[in-house]
Amino acid sequence: MTAQLIDGKMIAQQVRHEVAENVAKRMAVGKSKPTLATVLVGERMDSATYVASKQKACAELGMGSISHNLPGDTSQDELEKLIKSLNDDKSVHGILVQLPLPSHLNEERVLQLVGIEKDVDGFSPINIGRLAQKGREPLFVPCTPYGSIYLLEKAGVQIEGANAVVLGRSNIVGMPAALLLIGRNATVTVCHSRTKDLPSVIRSADILIAAIGKTEFVRGDWIKPGAAVIDVGINSKPDATKKSGYRLVGDVNFDEAKEVAGFITPVPGGVGPMTIAILMQNTFRAAEMQDP
Ligand code: NAP
Repeated sequence: MTAQLIDGKMIAQQVRHEVAENVAKRMAVGKSKPTLATVLVGERMDSATYVASKQKACAELGMGSISHNLPGDTSQDELEKLIKSLNDDKSVHGILVQLPLPSHLNEERVLQLVGIEKDVDGFSPINIGRLAQKGREPLFVPCTPYGSIYLLEKAGVQIEGANAVVLGRSNIVGMPAALLLIGRNATVTVCHSRTKDLPSVIRSADILIAAIGKTEFVRGDWIKPGAAVIDVGINSKPDATKKSGYRLVGDVNFDEAKEVAGFITPVPGGVGPMTIAILMQNTFRAAEMQDP
């Protein structure tokens, strides 16, 4: 292995530790407990697991959480009323609407309703719009893309002036990751399902952020020697040696890429743990802003 492993689990642990210390200091001077409201609609197992981990993290870091688990047939009106009431509730500092919502609900309208000062997921169009504009600052940045950039910075990877390729252009990962890299003066190419000759585009990357949800899609010989590779993908791959019958792998073929890259994140244990750590950091900041 030639690449230096970027240990997301350890870095996320450091972020969580810092947040827990700051929460304790805040509580010691009698200020309100930073509190996250989670909103889950429907019965998706994966979404329920993500929400449970977010609530568990709040408890571990001394923060509060309030869960709103709504049935799958919740109407747009009911959901919008809940978001408005959470916006008005002074004991709630952050609002997290777990995505995806069931298909009968209008996600855009729901995210638009979340007050920007409580938008700890960074998905409100105002926060995203500010992220896209030069000289404007969002109050919050989406957690997974920011976690990816945080890992690059912690590893000491030079972003300014680098050629960065972002593979994937989703609203929640690829696009905000590209905007964050542009904001840090990288030259950014965004690739997607209609990009021609992906291997040669990826070979130009000093920094690669892969977020497409395709098992071990990026091959080792697509990677520029010495490049920094951030693998956001979470995919399950059949593995008869595991009790569950599968194991988690990324969008990059790790075994091949680690022989070529300069830095690489593993899956699991790379970007994954950062997402919740940054959410906790955002929730703490939200409390500090609303109740300084
Ligand atoms: P998504 O919404 O499905 O978007 C996938 C993106 O990849 C789209 O832009 C799509 O292009 C592009 N794409 C798909 N197949 C491609 C191909 N063959 N070649 C080039 N581009 C292709 O996915 P997402 O929500 O961004 O998630 C991406 C991955 O990250 C998933 O594995 C997900 O589980 C993982 N994830 C991890 C975390 C974490 O905490 N670590 C958080 C969120 C997501 P088009 O736009 O042209 O369709």
